[in-house]
Amino acid sequence: MSTFQAPKGTYDLIPPDSATYLAVREAIAAPLKNSGYGYIETPGFENIELFSRGVGESTDIVSKEMYAFETKGGDKLALRPEGTASVLRAALEANLHKAGNLPVKLWYSGSYYRYERPQKGRYRHFSQVGAEAIGAEDPALDAELIILADQAYRSLGLRQFRILLNSLGDKECRPVYRDALQGFLRALDVDEDTRRRIEINPLRILDDKRDAVQKQLVGAPMLRDYLCDACKAYHEEVRELLTAAGVTYEDDEKLVRGLDYYTRTTFEFVHDGLGSQSAVGGGGRYDGLSEMIGGPALPSVGWALGVDRTVLALEAEGIELELPATTSVFAVPLGEEARRVLFALVTELRRAGVAADFSYGGKGLKGAMKSANRSGARYTLVAGERDLAEGVVQLKDMESGEQTPVALVDAVNAIRERLA
Ligand code: ATP
Ligand code: MG
Repeated sequence: MSTFQAPKGTYDLIPPDSATYLAVREAIAAPLKNSGYGYIETPGFENIELFSRGVGESTDIVSKEMYAFETKGGDKLALRPEGTASVLRAALEANLHKAGNLPVKLWYSGSYYRYERPQKGRYRHFSQVGAEAIGAEDPALDAELIILADQAYRSLGLRQFRILLNSLGDKECRPVYRDALQGFLRALDVDEDTRRRIEINPLRILDDKRDAVQKQLVGAPMLRDYLCDACKAYHEEVRELLTAAGVTYEDDEKLVRGLDYYTRTTFEFVHDGLGSQSAVGGGGRYDGLSEMIGGPALPSVGWALGVDRTVLALEAEGIELELPATTSVFAVPLGEEARRVLFALVTELRRAGVAADFSYGGKGLKGAMKSANRSGARYTLVAGERDLAEGVVQLKDMESGEQTPVALVDAVNAIRERLA
């Protein structure tokens, strides 16, 4: 193993590709910022209990994928595997729900950690941008979140994604369904792992990716037939609002998602160009989560979109984001005096808001022009002793190759005018 190798299942974001990641994060956040969501940032780790209670002991995330550790001081912590439990914890701790202005709408962006089998689109360290609307039960809020995610993906130019939608029922009707499903599943011939799952998290089996299991599920009771009237009406309203907004979705009765805390609306965004890691984002309503972690009843809904997989989706669709060049002007000094004068000019340009860079390390003209080319700058500023004696710098247009002298005293304005 080389010292320069990132840990298994992780990778570094490096220029120029890292610019795409930043742009994706910003594109996902933009519709949220524009819709009353405030930015929240929570620690990268939490007390392990938050996740074991809030995400659920029976989930793969907690039982298999969590990075849990004990500190020298004896604290039992875990690197955060997801954002919802932390955000809700922080909102409760800060009493945001008591400010009399529900729902509390928050968005976040950051790193998450899961001990998974690494493969394309599945990493041990990955990024999400997420949104949570805490403390209101209103189908329009569920619809809002789905509409905003759809808007985010579309703003990136993505087209080959689909929205899968389902309702998981509530604490009235889901237990009745759970019993019925367990009755059906117990009669099946399944492996040890699945047998255990029937007892602790039977709904998850509907989501099993294996064909053989899916065949066995033919004829299983479906949640749709067990939804109580309130859940049915709620779900119908969400669907109507989405349709009215022109957002296309597919009803997916088998969509249950991995987390224990979901109730009613549940949804996933899948992209058809990603192979088996097709989920680019997901979310749903989690009316019981607050109480599960010791808070008051606070019906809430949220989603998290994966940044890594969204970038892969862009690649799959052949989309290149139009990112502005990072450097507009690159300065190439010839000689000591020019170095001081051009460095001062670059500083002035930067203060005037022009993206400018400088040839460092005392390179000769040839090497410095190479750097200027690589920077992608629209203009290069060149100056030698003779130019300075005449009070000018040479401004070279890197597209046309044309070079014009501009007066040093007026250089900042002249450059700004040309760039405008
Ligand atoms: P999957 O079914 O693919 O394991 P998940 O249901 O575990 O996904 P969520 O917990 O809903 O995923 O997280 C939301 C999004 O975060 C996913 O849709 C995905 O884009 C991203 N994500 C989750 N786990 C990973 C991972 N290990 N590597 C990269 N992205 C991930
Ligand atoms: Mg997973």
